[in-house]
Amino acid sequence: MVKPFIIGTRNSGDYLHGGAKVLREGGSALDAVEAATRLVEMNPNDTSVGLGGIPNILGVQEMDASIMCGKTMAAGTVGALKGFIHPISVARKVLEHAPHVMLVGEGAELYAKVMGCEQGSLETEESKKVYKAFVEDAFEHEGIDESQAWVVNYARSQNLREWYDRLADEHHGTVNIMAMDENGDIASAVSTSGTALKFPGRLGDSPIIGAGNYCDNRYGAGACTGRGELAIRNSTARTIVHYMEGGLSVKEAAFRAMKDIHELNSFGGMNCLAMDNKGNTISATTVEGRESVYYYMDVDMETSERRVGITVPE
Ligand code: ASP
Repeated sequence: MVKPFIIGTRNSGDYLHGGAKVLREGGSALDAVEAATRLVEMNPNDTSVGLGGIPNILGVQEMDASIMCGKTMAAGTVGALKGFIHPISVARKVLEHAPHVMLVGEGAELYAKVMGCEQGSLETEESKKVYKAFVEDAFEHEGIDESQAWVVNYARSQNLREWYDRLADEHHGTVNIMAMDENGDIASAVSTSGTALKFPGRLGDSPIIGAGNYCDNRYGAGACTGRGELAIRNSTARTIVHYMEGGLSVKEAAFRAMKDIHELNSFGGMNCLAMDNKGNTISATTVEGRESVYYYMDVDMETSERRVGITVPE
């Protein structure tokens, strides 16, 4: 029997405590991943997830999140959600109570309100600063005006697209969290403000089951961070689990999925976190020279352990 544990991507493993505590007290993997994700969402210094998240091109923060239960394969996701402190808990409410899997925009906000989810601003001085820097940069390089009609040009112009790639790649990030509980059940959670300066209404991979998040007790779980468009095109999270179903180890599955990303031959890096249902874990990145770091904590550990996954060059 594997000791209950939790893993996650992010700059430190501090937030894993919240999930490990749930597991220690005999709680479910689903509760554990939600609890740990909430801690990341609440941290203003953790930009690109929850409070302090990076705004879209109009200066508005739009959040994506998803949660999946490996035992029942029930899932809940929200996309382009504004004005709620914990997108992951809104996603959990979708999982528990909605006849749907995915809600976006105004509909997601209405649902969150009806379900009594906590409302509030996610803006911080830092997130405002990022947007201000972006607008200044855009004025300087593209000569845009204040009317925001330039948004149309932005969407159309290949030129602006390149510029967007350059700027947006400096500010991004997502948290992926997975856990196994004392019953051997697994769950996974993902939360993000998405790619920086995205077009309003853009959904990344994070709220899309199969792209940024997938979890199945029979095999394991996969989740992604990085340029979401790539994971959407390859159904990367589901593909990782599919490779395990086909007999590959979790490490081989993550490796293959990252190789598949290279096959797209497109701009942007991709990273994944994965585990199998025996408790083996791994992370991987397509970005050459980048260390693929994740954190691990089981119920007997006092602090999380830093682990290094694999880098998968082209
Ligand atoms: N995967 C996220 C998205 O595309 C962003 C990121 O992880 O950097 O929305």
